[in-house]
Amino acid sequence: MSGVLAFLLGLFLLHFTFFGNKKRPLTKKVREDSYSKVPFVRGGVLETANGGVGRDGDATDVIIVGAGVAGAALACTLAKDGRRVHVIERDLSEQDRIVGELLQPGGYLKLLELDLADCVQEIDAQRILGYALYKDGKSAHLSYPLQNFTSDVAGRGFHNGRFIQRMREKAATLSNVRLEQGTVTSLIEEKGTVKGVTYKTKTGEEVRAYAPLTVVCDGCFSNLRRSLCHPKVDIPSHFVGLVLENCNLPFANHGHVILADPSPILFYPIGSDEVRCLVDVPGQKLPSVASGEMANYLKSIVAPQIPREIYPSFIAAIEKGNIRSMPNRSMPASPQPTPGALLMGDAFNMRHPLTGGGMTVALSDIVVLRDLLRRVPNLNDAAALCKYLESFYTLRKPVASTINTLAGALYKVFCASPDPARKEMRDACFDYLSLGGTCSSGPVSLLSGLNPRPLVLVSHFFAVAIYGVGRLCLPFPSPKRMWLGARLISGASGIIFPIIKDEGVRQMFFPATVPAYHRSPPPQTARVN
Ligand SMILES: Cc1cc2nc3c(=O)[nH]c(=O)nc-3n(C[C@H](O)[C@H](O)[C@H](O)COP(=O)(O)OP(=O)(O)OC[C@H]3O[C@@H](n4cnc5c(N)ncnc54)[C@H](O)[C@@H]3O)c2cc1C
Repeated sequence: MSGVLAFLLGLFLLHFTFFGNKKRPLTKKVREDSYSKVPFVRGGVLETANGGVGRDGDATDVIIVGAGVAGAALACTLAKDGRRVHVIERDLSEQDRIVGELLQPGGYLKLLELDLADCVQEIDAQRILGYALYKDGKSAHLSYPLQNFTSDVAGRGFHNGRFIQRMREKAATLSNVRLEQGTVTSLIEEKGTVKGVTYKTKTGEEVRAYAPLTVVCDGCFSNLRRSLCHPKVDIPSHFVGLVLENCNLPFANHGHVILADPSPILFYPIGSDEVRCLVDVPGQKLPSVASGEMANYLKSIVAPQIPREIYPSFIAAIEKGNIRSMPNRSMPASPQPTPGALLMGDAFNMRHPLTGGGMTVALSDIVVLRDLLRRVPNLNDAAALCKYLESFYTLRKPVASTINTLAGALYKVFCASPDPARKEMRDACFDYLSLGGTCSSGPVSLLSGLNPRPLVLVSHFFAVAIYGVGRLCLPFPSPKRMWLGARLISGASGIIFPIIKDEGVRQMFFPATVPAYHRSPPPQTARVN
């Protein structure tokens, strides 16, 4: 039954796909404990743990916990709007991480909107123009649909630490940003309202800082999110990371996705002579790096499946060592609106990193929040502000849920499976994307964040399924093939509908029907300094 329903829905949505897709027009070290060029004296109310209270000048408007992608970008953005921002970051030195190294063009557009596009300059960032997809020795070339954008718009591959340092540097030059090294240990709550944070300074002193709004951006391992949301974290796999040197990718300036067994392998440039490789390893347990099990796995299971042009540098990278890994987490946004506080970035919402959508979602969220806060000069009425900011959760949905759903669904489709119906879906997906025209530009415009629209996503997803059924049943359908087709549709529904349910059907497809969407800003009094 669900298969038949999905089939009809697919036909209806196909119509949308083809008629609804209209055109639309290093690093210097950041000063630790820095207060920008001008000595900064607006740290709000500071209080030591032993009870001593020290006021060091004006109040802070916003405390930001964490200066990663979300926190650093948010600090620059709010400070440019005149807010006095206190950023507390655990480690201000440049990090060497395997995450957040491919910024989709949609994320670059958000950087432009936030006036932060210069942060991808002078870091040896590589332009990314699309993807090459490999399966069973065949390849498909998928370009980003960039023709309607200015020439600088493209994806970017870079070292995540360099990008973040550029944003931190930029924040530190703003006179109303206080960027401090410290580890936030808890939120200060009074009668259900978050008033600020307790943190340990670099010297180990326990200090409290207060502000009308605290934005928690402490990343995927967030310790602070528990009181601000209902976290439901899933870890379907890990990414094992290597850096390849002297590697000429078959398609220069492109991401490469290998539909391998058991799951996908990614390659993309992150510097003029460096290619990041991420190998997805399903399940909770990884082969041990220390015992050599991991190197053995990479050589015997993974290496035979990668394109031969990449093979020598892949083997060299394994032999060089430095094999890193990260859990691939997904967590739908499930906020628990709390006066005085807000979650952003991975602390708030995560998706499988296969499609490299995390930074794009975080930056898109910052644009939404900035536009909302611009209408509220005075943040001091925490309850009213909290009510108003409930609209944030709905306004962000169309973009965030499209990128999240695509990541989750594509990961499942791209994994190998012994189930013949899943195998048909995977083959159909590869062949559909290889057709070119709307069949490749549509899905790529979703993945790149250039046109992240939920209906376009669902329509392409079911177009793939219908394409798969069509191939099975034409020219002469046999009962066995028709049964496989029905299972394919039912399997496709079983992949996408649970993800959509977690994202929230109403918020995703009909956001304007959610009352919070229309919230007006609280009545304003003059800002209290
Ligand atoms: C393997 C992997 C690969 C990925 N690849 C991509 C990709 O190619 N493209 C993409 O767009 N996304 C990618 N992502 C997702 C992306 O990395 C995240 O979405 C993004 O980094 C989220 O930014 P954030 O600011 O929330 O977190 P982070 O960038 O992790 O920043 C969190 C910051 O908070 C600080 N912090 C933590 N706790 C505290 C504390 N208690 N007190 C003070 N500071 C604290 C940390 O030091 C850190 O600086 C990937 C994710 C994974 C797991």
